[in-house]
Amino acid sequence: MDPRVQQFMAMIRAKNPGENEFHQAVQEVAESLIPYIDENPRYKHAKILERIAEPERTIIFRVPWLDDKGEIQINRGYRIEMNSAIGPYKGGLRLHPTVNLGILKFLAFEQVFKNSLTTLPMGGGKGGSDFDPKGKSDNEVMRFCQSFMSELFRHIGADTDIPAGDIGVGGREIGYLFGQYKRLKNEFTGVLTGKGIEWGGSLIRPEATGYGATYFAQEMLSTRGESLTGKVVCISGSGNVAQFATEKVTEMGGKVVTLSDSNGFIYDPRGIDKEKLKFVMELKNTRRGRINEYAEKYGVEYFEGKRPWSIKCDIAMPNATQNEINEEEAKMLVKNGCICISEGANMPSTPDAVEVFLKSKILYGPGKAANAGGVATSGLEMTQNSMRLPWSREEVDEKLQVIMKNIHNTCVKYGTKEDGFINYVDGANIGGFVKVANAMIAQGVV
Ligand code: NDP
Repeated sequence: MDPRVQQFMAMIRAKNPGENEFHQAVQEVAESLIPYIDENPRYKHAKILERIAEPERTIIFRVPWLDDKGEIQINRGYRIEMNSAIGPYKGGLRLHPTVNLGILKFLAFEQVFKNSLTTLPMGGGKGGSDFDPKGKSDNEVMRFCQSFMSELFRHIGADTDIPAGDIGVGGREIGYLFGQYKRLKNEFTGVLTGKGIEWGGSLIRPEATGYGATYFAQEMLSTRGESLTGKVVCISGSGNVAQFATEKVTEMGGKVVTLSDSNGFIYDPRGIDKEKLKFVMELKNTRRGRINEYAEKYGVEYFEGKRPWSIKCDIAMPNATQNEINEEEAKMLVKNGCICISEGANMPSTPDAVEVFLKSKILYGPGKAANAGGVATSGLEMTQNSMRLPWSREEVDEKLQVIMKNIHNTCVKYGTKEDGFINYVDGANIGGFVKVANAMIAQGVV
């Protein structure tokens, strides 16, 4: 490792002990940025890298709630307000039993660069709780959300901090959170994004992350004269991002052959068409069942406890969670002829896996660029809320496509190497950094 990176990471580890995912995210960015900062000493003198890795504010709070049996349950709530140099804090809320400070800090850190890449004026933040929505009734989820918002409301606002969805937070949860915020503040503002279409939401917001990651794959492929048409695609996850990536890939002529959840994956060599996707949506969003039911219904193979990366494909879209592709799986993907990775999830590839992708010079689109369509469309929801005017589906989708193209152009600008290879990791890290760093310098030591 570059000794400059080593020294910087020693400081980060000492200051943030035990926060492994946060260390991982910071190190990836530091590896891209430290050589760039050395060439641009004003960032060094202003200690931008040291400042950008320290949250502006971290809020941790108790979330007590009553379950259906009348028993008291206690969860821990968090909001990391990472950086507000270019706009109010913006980023999702995650509800998952694995949630801890280190995971949310990694997500908030990534969000700063991602939001900057979108070209929209949004700072970075992230939050959530170790609450597990699985197996909970609607009433339990509602009582949890109301309790969570009863503390969070004093820290957020339409011009201060605007949370959204992430793992475990979809339309149902945003509804309960928004209802409680409105009740406490007595105001109807765009304080959350991902709202229902009848009450301030934006068309295409639910679709945006999956659609955006697919548009980004298309952009990457076009640099090599390729397209999605006829390509076999492995997708992991079966939640929001996975569902709409499946929809868009299919619409653009590709064939999605896998989906997964935390129990295992299904392999459907004939492809997950519109009809089958409808079944998945009903299964996951309404009945909240497991993906193995797909295998039973359509008579395809189900692999318990496995991830889909052993299946031969042209394109892989990890759309479930962090560190879901390891070195061995990355090697398998490359060996099987995979030419493009577009990450719908945040940091789904381990550092060793990323190295495999970069060394093999396949098209590798990291999450902070490839999945930025979600937050970008949240930004468009905020604009519509401020104007009090909704845009049509076509208008939002067109804007999303333009944004994904711009993000791709930024990656090309900052990531193209002497031999012509586009290193999208460097491109996204440096491209996302410059605007935030310049704003921080302009605003003084704050
Ligand atoms: P959902 O909760 O809708 O779906 C998550 C999916 O991933 C589910 O299929 C879930 O399976 C699976 N999953 C979650 N945790 C694990 C785990 N530890 N191991 C294996 N599978 C797991 O979330 P989203 O689709 O919204 O988010 C997916 C990814 O995309 C996350 O990394 C998120 O940060 C990222 N993202 C999401 C955005 C959005 O707009 N929603 C925006 C940008 C990025 P199960 O049901 O069994 O838990």
